Amino acid sequence: MHRITNVASYNELIKALQNTIIQKNYSKALILTDENVFNIYKEEIEKIKKITNINCYIHIISPGEVSKSLSTTSLIVKKLIEKGHQRDSVIINYGGGVVSDLGGFIASNYLRGIDYINIPTTIIGQIDAAIGGKTAINMYNIKNNFGSFYNPIEIINYDQFTNTLNNLQKHNGYGEILKYAILMGRKDLIELEYLDIVEKCVNYKMNIVKEDLYEKGKRSYLNLGHTLGHGLEALLDIPHGIAVMYGILFASYISLKLGYVDKDFFDDVFTLSKQIVTFDKYNISNIKLESLINHIKHDKKVFNKQIRWILPKGWGKILKEEVPQNLWVKLLDNYMKDGFYEKCINC
Ligand code: NAD
Repeated sequence: MHRITNVASYNELIKALQNTIIQKNYSKALILTDENVFNIYKEEIEKIKKITNINCYIHIISPGEVSKSLSTTSLIVKKLIEKGHQRDSVIINYGGGVVSDLGGFIASNYLRGIDYINIPTTIIGQIDAAIGGKTAINMYNIKNNFGSFYNPIEIINYDQFTNTLNNLQKHNGYGEILKYAILMGRKDLIELEYLDIVEKCVNYKMNIVKEDLYEKGKRSYLNLGHTLGHGLEALLDIPHGIAVMYGILFASYISLKLGYVDKDFFDDVFTLSKQIVTFDKYNISNIKLESLINHIKHDKKVFNKQIRWILPKGWGKILKEEVPQNLWVKLLDNYMKDGFYEKCINC
């Protein structure tokens, strides 16, 4: 398993990176980041280049899901070849989940696998995406359908990066925290201090990944909210964590209708969601039901043509269940009609 190093200052971060580079004897590094992160942390990123004293190249991608693509992959691989990167090279992913998913994917394939280090700069990155070695790009507008399980060598977590996130990106992160709140059975999770949240989420995920790296069992519970969430992301310009939050609400709605949770549970999830996001912001009711159904059917959780939904059974209790298509489609139709949430209030 990979190492997680928590640091309390930027100098400590550089030191940790330097130690790993010396210990592993890397000769070259490619630092992958996106434009937003580079604009804010240009000096810090360039400091890595200066201090680590290895041959370093900084590659800057466009921000957002659009960069988790084959064309961006191809450009980066071209650079790795041009700059003469061999197996003693390392990719340093300096950014959010998009950067770590993409950089991890390239590292897992370049020369049949080179090392990579994640330096997550978003909430989603620090509590989830940078951990556990799931890497992917999106092909033909389907989320994360081309990728691998390939662990980074190290994750260096510095909580102060999140100070420069805008409000939307903070809400985005809290969508994934809601997922952990349900998985861990901790209704109070979103109220805790940020560092405390990170520690709890990281420990939770590390324990699951240790047991089930290839997602044959419990790891799939971490996909709570993602079946619908990924469909929404493919059709709308909506941040990942917020799409997941809508997905969690829908999964809770299915559970309510199947009698797995009571109205109190649903109301609690709904109340927490309202603390995270302004619902009116996303025009979800305008999405065509058929397009959404089509995307959901391409989900990675389809077995024998049936989707295995990850459903809450209460706080800290999760169930993986095949729900017949005619039933989830009917529930989705109901659920979407009034913009997902108003319907729920009366459900
Ligand atoms: P992201 O990388 O797109 O970051 C979100 C936005 O924040 C971007 O615009 C980025 O430029 C900006 N940003 C990043 N760091 C910043 C900082 N410190 N200050 C200011 N702005 C900053 O996406 P994300 O929300 O971090 O993660 C979502 C992605 O992660 C999705 O592609 C999702 O599929 C993936 N993901 C992967 C896993 C996994 O296990 N591999 C888990 C969860 C999510």
